[in-house]
Amino acid sequence: MRTRISAIDISNIEGKQIMTTESGQRTVADYYGDNVFGLKVMRNYLSEKAYKSLSEAIKNSGPLDPSIADEVAEAMKNWAVSKGATHYTHWFQPLTGLTAEKHDSFIELDGEGGVILEFSGNALIQGEPDASSFPSGGLRPTFEARGYTGWDPTSPAFVKEGARGATLCIPTYFVGWNGEALDKKTPLLRSMKAISRQVARLAKVLGIKITQNAFSTLGGEQEYFLIDRDFYHQRIDLIQTGRTLFGKEPAKHQQMADHYFGAIKDRVIGFMEDLDREMWKLGTPLKTRHNEVAPGQYEVAPIFENQNLAVDHNMLTMEVMQKVAKRHGLVCLLHEKPFAGINGSGKHCNWSVTGPDGKNWLSPGDNPHENERFLIMLCAVIKAVDEHAAFLRASVASAGNDHRLGSHEAPPAIISIYLGEQLNDIIEQIEKGSGVKSSKKGGTLAVGVDSLPGLPRHASDRNRTSPFAFTGSKFEFRAVGSAASLAGPNVVINTIAAGALDEICTKLETAKKSNKNMNKTVQKLLQDIIKKHKRVIFNGDNYTEAWVKEAKRRGLPNLKTTPEALKVTKDPAVVSLCEKQGVLTKTELFSRYEVYMETYETIIRYEAGLAADMAKTTIIPVAMDYQIELAETIKTVESINKIKSTASRKLLKDVSKETEKAITAVSNLEAALKGDSIQKMKTSTEALREIVDILEGLVPADSWPLPSYAEMLFIT
Ligand code: ADP
Ligand code: MG
Repeated sequence: MRTRISAIDISNIEGKQIMTTESGQRTVADYYGDNVFGLKVMRNYLSEKAYKSLSEAIKNSGPLDPSIADEVAEAMKNWAVSKGATHYTHWFQPLTGLTAEKHDSFIELDGEGGVILEFSGNALIQGEPDASSFPSGGLRPTFEARGYTGWDPTSPAFVKEGARGATLCIPTYFVGWNGEALDKKTPLLRSMKAISRQVARLAKVLGIKITQNAFSTLGGEQEYFLIDRDFYHQRIDLIQTGRTLFGKEPAKHQQMADHYFGAIKDRVIGFMEDLDREMWKLGTPLKTRHNEVAPGQYEVAPIFENQNLAVDHNMLTMEVMQKVAKRHGLVCLLHEKPFAGINGSGKHCNWSVTGPDGKNWLSPGDNPHENERFLIMLCAVIKAVDEHAAFLRASVASAGNDHRLGSHEAPPAIISIYLGEQLNDIIEQIEKGSGVKSSKKGGTLAVGVDSLPGLPRHASDRNRTSPFAFTGSKFEFRAVGSAASLAGPNVVINTIAAGALDEICTKLETAKKSNKNMNKTVQKLLQDIIKKHKRVIFNGDNYTEAWVKEAKRRGLPNLKTTPEALKVTKDPAVVSLCEKQGVLTKTELFSRYEVYMETYETIIRYEAGLAADMAKTTIIPVAMDYQIELAETIKTVESINKIKSTASRKLLKDVSKETEKAITAVSNLEAALKGDSIQKMKTSTEALREIVDILEGLVPADSWPLPSYAEMLFIT
């Protein structure tokens, strides 16, 4: 029998002590970025010349002057050592979707029995981890396993504090010997270049002054669950797969909507405060924190940043969340669906572009010209998402996210765009080419094209069911899974948007060359785009059956599972887009397909294996014991009462029936595991679960071998 409720003494939690020692004396502004080798720190550690050269390279994502590498490395080392660092590591993001690091200490022998601390420019710029065990999808067979990591100066180095020391982490990309991308950062950087290039072209043709490089921006909202660590340790499924493979829905869960934005419990706020502080020290601008829809579910969101930085910061946040949770006797679950029947977790990807004029190009501007470029950007995104909806869907495909998409709590697998009533109104007017000047509420702005309608300001409403929603000054892609790296979806958004802008710019440039009326050209162009691609716009409730039907009628793809979605990455249209924009080659795309498919199948397989083991060795034995207990009780009671205990006999029958079913389901699952149908493994796992969850409702709670949903979700 297991202990039902864990005794929690929050007075002993380490986070509390940190609070009084650290933030008691220093404000956030004092310690923000303490552990980051950012521009401010660089200025103190570098010569004028090196600082200037490096900061220019960072600002423009430009080439790095190799002659300053040694000086930068020395400065980084001195700074890191002053923070207690003994080691450095190239920090990278292989296709596992996690981060990777291999540490080297700074020590070199001095020949006199001692050591000196060294860090060379070469070691900073390039590393060669033994990379043979990282997934490459056949790109890099193990016999020629060389891959190397290369310094990405656009994401600053940082110091990670350990329990007894610290490590200097240098964000790097990871490529094969011939430059083939083996990670998630390389295509991200390439796709950022692609969109930056196209946006600059658009600026040029529209006559907008170019003062800087354009770059995509990203703000990633992160959902997660917190549960008590004692419960976690009693659930091998959570430990091994990150989700519960069994568990009966509790009578009370989120029906009352009493958790969302509710007062935050002491222990949870302790975790949040600690997390904020850790991330602020690491220069990650965490901004909001709150309770989410499901009990035990929370969200954290940063201020948006340059996309590359935002992706790195999200990876780091996920890592630090695990560590901080541990300090508080909690476990942070990042899985997309830790609890069946309860809201899953996603990651909202807020995407926009800061143009070469330093302004947000998805924000209606202050003058007619800015509204013109806003409408072009908007239509470019509409065109991009319609043409590559399936590719976008593929970018969020994973075994975990399959449990979530389309389950009436998360956006469906059908990709559509929400514009809101006002913007939709404008789009309709452009489509008609009628040049109507009015717009619904919100006041209007003039647009630089005579017959384009005015734009409403600050009048966007919200639709929480859309997978790709325009929310005022950015698009919000809501289908991303909570455990996923933000890199993949952002690579796809950048690339498809770059592709659409490429075509648009070509048309505008041609018109300009032949001295066509640009206002008319823009108007016609936008009108054509809307006519052709408006089918992807949907402002209604995406959770309804009616939308699924309507989407089908419109010919929008509905890729329900990961294998269906991933196939799209091999589609000739996708290959040609990615090659043209210089983001991924055909070989790289195909290798990614292999890696992601294998990951998917591996997960289904081990979840199936574990479910069979758990049912056979921990759950069914308990149900068996209960039958004996019941049978003996009935026998004794009947012999004394001298009447038949009909209801009790019925209970025994039920338990026996479900137990028998469970044993059969285990056999079926084991048979499926011997075969090679992944789909069969998946459905057999689900079938077993259904029966086990019924048994959980029959067997006495104190002999059930796993903590219940009610305990895990409500006790923190
Ligand atoms: P919402 O309430 O629609 O979720 P918020 O204003 O709370 O919107 O912002 C959600 C996320 O979007 C935050 O991380 C925020 O920094 C980010 N965001 C805001 N503007 C931009 C932008 N221009 N580019 C990228 N992300 C942005
Ligand atoms: Mg959001």
